[in-house]
Amino acid sequence: MKSFRKELWFNVPTRRAFINITPQVEKCLRESGVHEGLALVNAMHITASVFINDDESGLHNDYEVWLEKLAPHEPVSQYRHNGYEDNADAHLKRQVMGREVVVAITNGQLDFGTWEQIFYGEFDGGRKKRVLVKIIGA
Ligand code: ZN
Repeated sequence: MKSFRKELWFNVPTRRAFINITPQVEKCLRESGVHEGLALVNAMHITASVFINDDESGLHNDYEVWLEKLAPHEPVSQYRHNGYEDNADAHLKRQVMGREVVVAITNGQLDFGTWEQIFYGEFDGGRKKRVLVKIIGA
């Protein structure tokens, strides 16, 4: 069995963003040499997500509006977590959007459903953050 580990680094200048990281994960898969197995991709920060959905700008805007309704950033004083920090909303948004995804690898390809792409969701940007890619298989 082969095992591959790599960290992807992001430094998003805005507070929130959705970034399609499918090309980086496919590059990891090529580097791993795995043809049959599993790929785990997870955010290594509690204010960022990794999720799978459509690469469609209208949907990404809908996420932004929906998440702001669920957990508005302002006023920051509404959250007990906020004292030294102002990122309680980012923790909540990350919880909704998820920590990680697992994708099957078949014939050396990410075995996606229709329109599926992997995204990094940033909810408290302006600093360096990591995403772990772990690939196992043969
Ligand atoms: Zn916090």
